[in-house]
Amino acid sequence: MKPDYELAFERGEITQKAVEACRQGIPLDELFSPRSLSGERLTLRVEAQKLARISRRENRVRGKNLGTVTDLITGKHYRIEAANCSLPNCCCDCIATEIRR
Ligand SMILES: [Zn+2]
Repeated sequence: MKPDYELAFERGEITQKAVEACRQGIPLDELFSPRSLSGERLTLRVEAQKLARISRRENRVRGKNLGTVTDLITGKHYRIEAANCSLPNCCCDCIATEIRR
């Protein structure tokens, strides 16, 4: 049987980079793949509990502030906001803006 992350990749939910991170032992529920402002798909590692909060779909509107995360791989901080995906009226994607302090 294929591991969960291979199936998630086949469904288009995670990037190839995320698959490689899983192969190196990062749990799937800690992988977060928001877009950057320039449209690039990032691969971040975030506390699972925090990621579960960010991933909630209820009451999401484009641009809604979903808080900040710290990438456990690089230590960089990002502000996260809800964004439209490729489906009409769906707002399941996120945009991450790096916070430089
Ligand atoms: Zn969507």
